[in-house]
Amino acid sequence: KIRVKGLKKSFGDNEVLKGLDVDIASGEVVCVIGPSGSGKSTFLRCLNRLEDITDGNVVVDGFDVSDKKIDIDQVRQHIGMVFQHFNLFPHMTAIENVMLAPVQTKRASKEEARATAVRLLEQVGLAEKADAKPANLSGGQKQRVAIARALAMNPDIMLFDEATSALDPEMVGEVLQVLRDLAKGGMTMVVVTHEMGFAREVSDRVIFMADGYVVEEGTPEQIFGNPQQSRTQDFLNKVL
Ligand code: ATP
Ligand code: MG
Repeated sequence: KIRVKGLKKSFGDNEVLKGLDVDIASGEVVCVIGPSGSGKSTFLRCLNRLEDITDGNVVVDGFDVSDKKIDIDQVRQHIGMVFQHFNLFPHMTAIENVMLAPVQTKRASKEEARATAVRLLEQVGLAEKADAKPANLSGGQKQRVAIARALAMNPDIMLFDEATSALDPEMVGEVLQVLRDLAKGGMTMVVVTHEMGFAREVSDRVIFMADGYVVEEGTPEQIFGNPQQSRTQDFLNKVL
């Protein structure tokens, strides 16, 4: 569960988020769409405080992320994040990448972490690649390992920032399928994407951002079928 109230974020005197109010319920799948530079990534990064929050309130799973005194590492253990670039450790095999965080944070013994990693690699369709190094995996496979790695911490919430936009077109589908399965499994997900077909099919709710504001939000049917704001209409006319 995520509750964002009056979230503002500035870089120097450039105000990038101008007061966002967003509520996301447990199990909800929310896609965030909008033009380049509108603040989508910054919004996502504020949710686990990869960016300092300039003003407003961000509460994730009951933790006040905007409170400077909070142990942010503890909060981040509940939030998995997957980026455009996978950032796997190149010298480790797929399974070692997936096992690393649970072992390092002492959440699991090596044996437990291995068993979980085997299960997760199977879940993302990569059981047979467990011992491969990232250099020997395709982009889509690397991204699926990155998702398994994020899931290894058993997060309550998963954040995806354009997880498919660095991939060759033929690999987008396999990664979206993993997201689709996660959504069906009840994971709370915030997905920044320019895959409009995916947003339309999978999300419970779509948020359209522009210029640091939430311009419009609604069901996929509302946003794609009957957008109310001219800013939303213009954007969709360009990308659809
Ligand atoms: P895109 O679709 O291209 O990924 P976005 O909606 O994710 O765009 P953001 O990356 O959130 O947009 O950026 C919003 C604005 O904040 C941009 O004007 C960007 O230049 C600025 N910005 C983002 N990160 C920083 C930073 N670390 N320092 C300074 N300015 C930043
Ligand atoms: Mg971005």
